[in-house]
Amino acid sequence: MTLLEGSKVRDAILAELRPRVEAVASSGRPPGLAVVLVGGDPASAIYVRNKVKACRDLGIHSVHAAPPEATTTEELLAIVAGLSASEEIDGILVQMPLPKHIDERRVLLSVPPGKDVDCFHPLNVGNLVSNAAGPRACTPSGVMEMLRRYDIPVAGKRAVVVGRSDIVGKPMALMLLHANATVTICHSRTAGLEDECRRADILVAAIGRPAFIRGSFIKPGAVVIDVGINRIVDRAEAGRIFAADSERLARFDEKGSLVTGDVHPLEVAHAAAFTPVPGGVGPLTIAMLMANTVASAEKRCSA
Ligand code: NDP
Repeated sequence: MTLLEGSKVRDAILAELRPRVEAVASSGRPPGLAVVLVGGDPASAIYVRNKVKACRDLGIHSVHAAPPEATTTEELLAIVAGLSASEEIDGILVQMPLPKHIDERRVLLSVPPGKDVDCFHPLNVGNLVSNAAGPRACTPSGVMEMLRRYDIPVAGKRAVVVGRSDIVGKPMALMLLHANATVTICHSRTAGLEDECRRADILVAAIGRPAFIRGSFIKPGAVVIDVGINRIVDRAEAGRIFAADSERLARFDEKGSLVTGDVHPLEVAHAAAFTPVPGGVGPLTIAMLMANTVASAEKRCSA
């Protein structure tokens, strides 16, 4: 079984972006990304820190706006409007989830499509649906890069995507469709999920439930892409999933938590290839965010 290593693919993507960043910078100013984080959610704060660091490492100018939790929709719209008008900014990312009192849809609609590096704007979603040029959602496009760079054929294959969120499942299914896979989308109301999954040559799990996809869901020789990132803090749950992996349990006992995907990591030996969690799809999301920002800056340069 081949372990599909996200860090290798990420490094290759970033190495290819470097000269493109330099080319943009030499034509006036470097690409610029603004990241807006409302409130102090610790998980979001880590994501944002990693995004800002990735920009710094690559030579992308970054702006980090951090309005407080109590920020109103109108105030947030004003922040986004300021960034939209800024000559220095090519991409705007509003970190999700937003506090409940904020009208998320209005905020996402206010990001101009040309600076929408997350591909949340309906115009960019429409471009994805019709396979027209434009930014693509970062996590699924990272998965496509992973498949491409590991020479995993997609055309003519049967792909099953479990999960239909706007951020991962739906764009993932569309990208696989555009790459000529025969695609099935499954969700919480799918009947016979296990049978559907077992038909997959390429199985993508984007569910948000630790170790939910068991070995019996996986066809021998399938390529299994695990998008899930689940932090387990309950010792009993860790014990159930990792009963046969004393090393990982010891690590749980040391740290009090561990991260696992949506696929049972001890039941994938009969797959042809698998993305481990952590270390599989995870590292690619930020790399694709950088790629979308650079592409947006290049468009500005050639305009
Ligand atoms: P959402 O909660 O938005 O969507 C989850 C999807 O899984 C839904 O479509 C839901 O179906 C489906 N689902 C839930 N339970 C079941 C079930 N029992 N059987 C079948 N389908 C089910 O999650 P996201 O798409 O945002 O994220 C999915 C996972 O990917 C999470 O673990 C998240 O942390 C991870 N993630 C990882 C990223 C990365 O960089 N690697 C980036 C983004 C997310 P329904 O629509 O019917 O409710």
